[in-house]
Amino acid sequence: MPKEPVYEMVGKRFGKQIVLRRATGERKGRVAWECRCDCGKIRAVDGYDLRTGHSTQCKRCAARAQPSFGPILWRLLHNAKARAKRDGLPCNISLADIVVPELCPLLGIPLCPGNGKVLPGSPTLDRLVPELGYIKGNILVISFRANTIKQNATPEELYRLAKNLTRIMRKKGKIQ
Ligand SMILES: [Zn+2]
Repeated sequence: MPKEPVYEMVGKRFGKQIVLRRATGERKGRVAWECRCDCGKIRAVDGYDLRTGHSTQCKRCAARAQPSFGPILWRLLHNAKARAKRDGLPCNISLADIVVPELCPLLGIPLCPGNGKVLPGSPTLDRLVPELGYIKGNILVISFRANTIKQNATPEELYRLAKNLTRIMRKKGKIQ
């Protein structure tokens, strides 16, 4: 049974999307709505995602909203899906879930598109808990540099490593 009456959603605007009609079937037990994005794209959207502001535009428009990162976002998603399939990990993220911050949240260096070249600041997709896969809430966009250092290390391992490396290098007079 639909949780919301049809008349309350049809014709309503959510960001760039206008609700046309109720979509056939449900998504994850929720009512879905056929929406038209301002770009013309028509697709079914979860009513909950609309009302909570999680969905304001189609995936293509969401990718375009971050123009310089657009192609990278597609590649990150494509690679994540391929890796998840290969390793039998769950993957339920979409383009809209991949948000590239200005700075790498782990190293504080600027994230840059790189124009096809892999740079220390190239955005990569990290799984906070690797075995949970690419699911909403478990992914973080970090720099290539940070990803190379971190790999699948836990914060505790990284902390221990940094602490011991600092101690040894100090002792040898390599750092202050
Ligand atoms: Zn659109």
